[in-house]
Amino acid sequence: MRLIGPGVIRQRDLAHRKVTRLGSAIRLEGINHWYGSGRTHVQALCDIALDIPAGGYVALTGPSGAGKSTLLSLVGGLERPQSGRLRVGDQDLARLDSDRLAAYRRTTVGFVFQHFGLLDLLSARENIELAESLSAIPAKLRRAHADELLSEVGLTDRAHHRPGELSGGERQRVAIARALVNDPGLILADEPTGNLDAGSAMRILDLLESVHVERGCTLVVVTHNEAVAQRADRRYRMEAGRVLP
Ligand code: ADP
Repeated sequence: MRLIGPGVIRQRDLAHRKVTRLGSAIRLEGINHWYGSGRTHVQALCDIALDIPAGGYVALTGPSGAGKSTLLSLVGGLERPQSGRLRVGDQDLARLDSDRLAAYRRTTVGFVFQHFGLLDLLSARENIELAESLSAIPAKLRRAHADELLSEVGLTDRAHHRPGELSGGERQRVAIARALVNDPGLILADEPTGNLDAGSAMRILDLLESVHVERGCTLVVVTHNEAVAQRADRRYRMEAGRVLP
C-alpha cells in the first residue's frame, strides 16, 4: 500500500520493493489451455514455455486467435491453465484455490484493456474511487489517492469529466490510473492502444513505460502493432496457441 498517513501518499519510491514483491520472474512451463469440449473444443494454448523477468517489459504479438489474450488472462489469474505450471515468484497459479487467486489479482495485477472498461455514468475520479472501494484503502483516503493517481497520469484537470467527455487517449489514462489503485507489481495491457490514433497510442505507451520504470512494475503488452511491440525489451510472437521459438 502506498498510503503512509492520512492524506499523505508516497510517490514513486518503491520500485525495488515492487520487483521483490512480485518474485523473481513469471515462468510458464508446459501450459495448455482449452475451451469447451467435444465438438466445441478449442485448444487456445499448446505447451507454452515462457519466462517474463521480474521488472521486465514484454510484448506478445501475433494474429487474432493466436492465444495472446488467453495467455494474459492466465498470467493475470483470471483463469487457471488446465495443465502445466505457471509460477509467479514462489506461487504456482495453476494450483491456487479461488480465494488465493483472487488475492493474487487484487494485490499484484493491474489490468488495462483496449476498450478501457470505464463506467459511463461516473466521472474519471469516481471510476477510480469505485476501484478503491474494492481495495483495502480506507474510505477517508480514497479521494486524495484517486487525485494522486489522476495527477500521475496527467489528468488532474479532468477529474470531474465522464468518459464520454474525454478523448480515447484520456479514457485510457483514467483506465491506467484505475489499474494502479492497488499499487500492482504487474501491469497486463491487452491491446491498450488498439482504439487510439497513432499519436495517442505512442503517448499511452510513454505513460505505461513511465509506470514500468518509475514504479518498477513488470509490464506485459499484447499487441498486433509492430511499432508498439518494438518498444518492449522482449518480444514473443504467438501463432495457433504456441509461442514461436
Ligand atoms: P488472441 O488474443 O490472440 O486473439 P484468444 O486468446 O482470444 O486469441 O483466443 C485463442 C483461441 O481461443 C481462439 O480460437 C478463440 O476463439 C478461443 N477462445 C478464446 N476465448 C474463448 C472462450 N471463452 N470460449 C471459447 N473459445 C475461446
